[in-house]
Amino acid sequence: MIDDLVTGLRVPTDLYVGGAWVGAGDGGRFDVIDPATGLPIADVANGTVEDALRCVDAADGAAAAWARTAPRERGEILRRAFELMTERTEQLAELMVRENGKALADARGEVRYAAEFFRWYAEEAVRLSGELRTAPAGTNRIMVLRQPIGIALLITPWNFPAAMATRKIGPALAAGCTVVLKPASETPLTALALGALLSEAGVPDGVVNVLPSRRSGDVASAVLADPRVRKLSFTGSTEVGRSLLGLAAQQVVSCSMELGGNAPLVVLEDADLDVAVEGAMLAKMRNGGEACTAANRMYVHRAVADEFTRRLGEAMAGLSVGPGLEDAAVGPLVNQAAVDKVSELVAAAVDDGARVVTGGEAVEGRGFFYPPTVLSDVPPTSRILEEEIFGPVAPVVRFDSDEEAVRLANRTEYGLVAYVFTRDLARGLRMSEALEAGMVGLNRGVVSDPAAPFGGVKQSGLGREGGHEGMLEYTESKYVAVEW
Ligand code: NAD
Repeated sequence: MIDDLVTGLRVPTDLYVGGAWVGAGDGGRFDVIDPATGLPIADVANGTVEDALRCVDAADGAAAAWARTAPRERGEILRRAFELMTERTEQLAELMVRENGKALADARGEVRYAAEFFRWYAEEAVRLSGELRTAPAGTNRIMVLRQPIGIALLITPWNFPAAMATRKIGPALAAGCTVVLKPASETPLTALALGALLSEAGVPDGVVNVLPSRRSGDVASAVLADPRVRKLSFTGSTEVGRSLLGLAAQQVVSCSMELGGNAPLVVLEDADLDVAVEGAMLAKMRNGGEACTAANRMYVHRAVADEFTRRLGEAMAGLSVGPGLEDAAVGPLVNQAAVDKVSELVAAAVDDGARVVTGGEAVEGRGFFYPPTVLSDVPPTSRILEEEIFGPVAPVVRFDSDEEAVRLANRTEYGLVAYVFTRDLARGLRMSEALEAGMVGLNRGVVSDPAAPFGGVKQSGLGREGGHEGMLEYTESKYVAVEW
């Protein structure tokens, strides 16, 4: 337990299994690093395969009673969790800044967003409906019940340590499932703090288990090989997602996958440039660019490209860079590997002929800082347009027609989100239909909303989180053929 990390919040550092905080046996511990300094801030129990299976035992032991718990009671527990998170916004935000590096304003925004999943699913818990139809032959009724799918393994990334966990825990608990949460090893503290908070909100022992571990592959394979586990909900990279889909296939486990993105942001020549630049800043710089929804490629009509790029460059150059807790607008990236990757992509784009409008060189010294960067005249075949940048870099590409913009935007195996800016709503809607993405921001730089179905097409994922759809991912439909 650490209680001096941030004022007023005691953060457990052991595994949370069956309602108890326990060490990792001979699994040892691992360090959590502050990206602003590169120094450790805590060490956390490193869960083993045996610990993972103990989590499944605990989830199994709690499953039947939780599934029977009245939906209203499940909803009220989630509502208390929403209230506790809201009361502790400041402490949880500071904790996230310490382990993830993000700017304090982003961290506060994330706590609010994360807590909203508890509120939304508190409300949804009592709204789960089935169906009743007459069979086409008229002989009987078709009754469809929605039942909890069973034990769920939840695996989350480091970039939104709170929201990616609550976006899974909220609907799972509302639907009556018990869970094992394996947070990213870069950011286990927020997940552990959430485990403690859920217990305080009244979640019974064993319903939520939290397993930090650096043995992700081994732990995930062991849990997915256990036939009691019926659901995998994963948020992370497409590469790891693919390997988990392979593992899940062995026991035919239901999968929800929220994977990587490579979001295009299209600015048509009739766009309101104030709106487009503001939207581009949000779409690019929320979470310092470390978001699956981050605008990765900016396609701007040739007629407005110079003006848009100039304004975007000024806005990006005006952002302060520094430790998140010191109220900088842009915090450090998560680790040195992230800085190296961003530097490499920028260098390759410049070699291809791109021009640096602002930024473009990693910040020297302590911590993992990279400045807000705008690149113009990026050739459409440059590598930076093909991979997730996951940093504060905006490459701008020019286009001449709507058809060309759609073709360039769709030229990727990803399909999470796309952004379009135009004053002509019909034209924007036509383009929204043509873009291969699970979500479109039309004259908006943010799509995330707990009440909306979030998710991607193509290799950006399977299934949806949030909204009504998000809860159906944790249920199975059971059809009863009835005669009466
Ligand atoms: P990652 O794939 O490296 O890790 C995600 C999680 O998987 C972590 O908990 C990690 O410990 C675990 N993991 C790693 N290797 C594993 C393995 N072999 N078996 C089982 N688990 C394993 O991703 P990341 O770097 O933490 O997060 C960034 C990625 O997440 C980006 O690609 C981003 O686009 C994506 N992301 C997607 C969404 C979305 O909703 N679509 C949201 C946030 C982040």
